[in-house]
Amino acid sequence: MKLDVNALRYLSKDDFRVLTAVEMGMRNHEIVPAELVDRIAGLKHGGTYKVLRNLLKNKLVHHDATKYDGYRLTYLGYDFLAIKTLVNRGVFASVGRQIGVGKESDIFEVATEDGTVLAMKLHRLGRTSFRAVKSKRDYLAHRRSFNWLYLSRLAALKEFAFMKALGDHGFPVPTAVDCNRHCVIMSLVQGYPLVQVKELQNPDDVFDTILGLVVRLAEHGLIHCDFNEFNIMIDDDEKVTMIDFPQMVSVKHRNAQMFFDRDIECIYKFFRKRFHLSSEKCEEQDGSDIDDDENSRPSFLSIQKAAGSLDKELAASGFTRKEQVEMDKYIDQNAEEESSDDDSTSEQDNEDGDDVAVKIGSLKIAEQDSAEVPDCTLASKDSSEPETFAKE
Ligand code: ADP
Ligand code: MG
Repeated sequence: MKLDVNALRYLSKDDFRVLTAVEMGMRNHEIVPAELVDRIAGLKHGGTYKVLRNLLKNKLVHHDATKYDGYRLTYLGYDFLAIKTLVNRGVFASVGRQIGVGKESDIFEVATEDGTVLAMKLHRLGRTSFRAVKSKRDYLAHRRSFNWLYLSRLAALKEFAFMKALGDHGFPVPTAVDCNRHCVIMSLVQGYPLVQVKELQNPDDVFDTILGLVVRLAEHGLIHCDFNEFNIMIDDDEKVTMIDFPQMVSVKHRNAQMFFDRDIECIYKFFRKRFHLSSEKCEEQDGSDIDDDENSRPSFLSIQKAAGSLDKELAASGFTRKEQVEMDKYIDQNAEEESSDDDSTSEQDNEDGDDVAVKIGSLKIAEQDSAEVPDCTLASKDSSEPETFAKE
C-alpha cells in the first residue's frame, strides 16, 4: 500500500483528534468500538463518525464490523501520529524519499527546518509474521493484529535507548535524535550497507574493526544479535557504523553465547566469501571450536566474566525490565519461527545481486535488492521533493 504523505497536510485538527482517540482505545481493545472512539474524541453533533469515514478513506484506520462496529489504526495511521508529534516538536519539517526497507522497518530521509537531513526509522513488528502467515495461518491469526502497535513502540524505544547509550560510550552508531511511538529519528549515515560493497581497499582492517566491535560490545555487557552485512554501514573512507539495535541482549541472556558466536560467524562467513579474507585470518577461523586459545576466535566466556554493565545502565534508562522481558519474548518467538521456516526468505539467505555491481564513490556497490515489498509504505510519491509540514 502506498499513500502520499501529502495527505498529512490536509488532515484537520479533528482528524487527528479522532485518530488519537482510536489509538487510545487500542490500549485495551483490539478493535475499538466506534462509540468508544466517539466518547474519547468528544466531538459535537456526531462529528466523530464523519471524521472516521475520512480517516478510512485515507487508510489511516481499518474498519471491522465482524463483532461490532469498530476501528483500529493501520500502520499508516500510526505513522501519521508519530510524524505529526515529531513535526510539532520541531524535530523535522519534511519527509523525503525512502532509503531502506528492513526486515521489520521502513527508513526514510527527513529534513529539519534548516535543511539538515536525518533518518527516520518506522518500526513494523509483525511484518515477518505476516510473511509467515501463509504457512501458519491459524497459529498466527491471533497475534497478527493484536499487539504489533505495542511491540513496534517497544522496539523503537529500545533502539533509541541503545543507540544513545552506545553513542555515549564511543561506539560508531548513528546519533540518536528523538523517538516517538514506533519511530526513531537518528543522524543519516553517509555510506552503504556492507552487503552492497563489492571491493574494499583494506578488507583485513575493516574485518578487524568489525570483529573488534562485537568484542567491545560484549565487554560492555551487550550482544548485537543481528550483526551482519545488512546492519554494518561503511563509507568511502571505509569507516564502519553499526545500526539496528532492537534485538540486542545482555551477555547474561540465557542464549548469550549462541548469539555472540553467531554474530562472529556471520562476519567470518561474509568476509571469507566476499573479500577472500587473508590466508592468515582464514587459518585463525579454521579451528572452528571456540576456545580460550589466543590465536582463535574471541572467546565469549572470558569476555562474559569481565563484562561491564552497560546492559544494567540501559535497564535503568527509559527501557524498563518489564519491557525488556516483553521484547525478549517476541525475539525468541521470532527466532523459533525463523528456524522452523524451511522456505525462509530472510535477508541473510539472499546472496542475489552479486553480478549487478556499480561504482559509487570509491566503493564498488551492488544494486540494492528490491525484492522486499513493504505492506505499508509511507511514500514520497517517488519524487525527490520532500513533503513539508506545518507545526500546529
Ligand atoms: P531493520 O531493523 O528493519 O533491519 P535497519 O535499521 O537495519 O532496519 O535499516 C534498514 C536499512 O535502512 C539499512 O540496511 C540501511 O540501508 C538503511 N538505514 C538504516 N538506518 C540508516 C541511517 N541512520 N542512515 C542511512 N541509512 C540507514
Ligand atoms: Mg537491519
